[in-house]
Amino acid sequence: MPDISTLSIKSTQDALQKKEFSARELTVASLNAIKEKDGDINAFLEVFDDVLEQADEADRKIKAGMNLPLLGIPVAIKDNMLMENKCATAGSKILEGFIAPYDGTAVRKLKDAGAIILGRTNMDEFAMGSSTENSAYGVTKNPHDLSRVPGGSSGGAAAAVAANFILAALGSDTGGSIRQPAAFCGVVGLKPTYGRVSRSGLVALASSLDQIGPLSKTVTDTEIIYNVLKGQDPLDSTTIIDETYSKSKKFSKTIGVPREFVESEGVDENVRNNFEETIKKFESLGYRITDIKLPHIKYSLASYYIIMPAEASSNLARFDGVKYGLHKDGEDVIEDYFKTRGEGFGREVRRRIILGTYVLSSGYYDEYYGSALKMKKLIADELNEAFKQIDLILTPTTPTPAFKLGEKLANPLSMYLADIFTVPANIAGLPSISIPSGLVGVLPLGIELTAGLGKEENLFIAGKEFLGE
Ligand code: GLN
Repeated sequence: MPDISTLSIKSTQDALQKKEFSARELTVASLNAIKEKDGDINAFLEVFDDVLEQADEADRKIKAGMNLPLLGIPVAIKDNMLMENKCATAGSKILEGFIAPYDGTAVRKLKDAGAIILGRTNMDEFAMGSSTENSAYGVTKNPHDLSRVPGGSSGGAAAAVAANFILAALGSDTGGSIRQPAAFCGVVGLKPTYGRVSRSGLVALASSLDQIGPLSKTVTDTEIIYNVLKGQDPLDSTTIIDETYSKSKKFSKTIGVPREFVESEGVDENVRNNFEETIKKFESLGYRITDIKLPHIKYSLASYYIIMPAEASSNLARFDGVKYGLHKDGEDVIEDYFKTRGEGFGREVRRRIILGTYVLSSGYYDEYYGSALKMKKLIADELNEAFKQIDLILTPTTPTPAFKLGEKLANPLSMYLADIFTVPANIAGLPSISIPSGLVGVLPLGIELTAGLGKEENLFIAGKEFLGE
């Protein structure tokens, strides 16, 4: 029986092609691991009932000599991604029992690449959160310490990879939801350039910030999945072609460190020490480290918490008890709305809808939403300017390692601060990756590399060198 903890996508592909084991045997190993351990972790909301048929199909293709990029590889999707004839709830009661009528583009690309899609993973409701405690279907626990959160909102995806249930998973990242759980669970997580991966079939949170991306064990595996996912899609008019961003600036191994930003943000001592060691390691790998000033970046989180709820409040208006999922009867249509949305949405979602509606209301639009959009532009310009001199920006992914379950639930603002280093990349649309950088006791830490628009390859080069791949 193959041992998933010793495998990567790359080594599995070799083993499958050499017939060391079959896709069915690998899938059975996955299912057994889930059966044995996921009762404690709760990474999966559902394991699909046709996974062995998918595996047999992969074995047939391998036998026929096909060699697709993810042929026979067990993966999972986040519960906010549509897969034809499967349930998708975005972690919410309001979508309980909703069956997707078609494949989202990213899911279709996984299928076309030969992947075995094992199931859907737990998440904060509508991807709002940093701990997966906001799911309507129970919390997910960190496989490295069951008393701690796995991060969020793609906490189920990160936990499923870290627990060696699967080799990779898709997450979505609006303000850090791939990178932050990747850091907390000790795996690699990539948010691609905005527009690189189609959002068709992704339940929208904040459409100008959302991106789908992979979580996996190595940078090499992340790159394999990224190459499967990327590309222009007629179903998402914000997607871009490969040539959109100029390739003229050559990679010169220059890393900018925004020290002032990192040091002003209440970073845990262990994280700070790990960050210093990371800088030294990059220096020893021949990288030039230079201090950079980014005076507006400290306003990223504040801008994010206006723009994201504003877009979320309009995106979530479609859940009205008529078109999808839950319906509660009231005395009249308006009362139907109140009851359906009041009972169907959890606390955090209701909080953000109220906040979003407020910042978009006529008396406050310019003061809040308008100002946040101006700040978004300033931050993006400042970062794009910085990338004329440097190739990468380095920060910790998170200010602390994984926190305790329940620790930040009573204080949403303290939860929001978990994303201080991840949000700027979404605000500016930049590609950004979290890479495991060490441990505090049993708890993983991650560092974050961000590159210029369209420069994912710089993240892969530096990430592979850092991990010695
Ligand atoms: N944790 C952030 C939030 O709560 C980011 C979420 C995300 O990226 N989907 O909004």
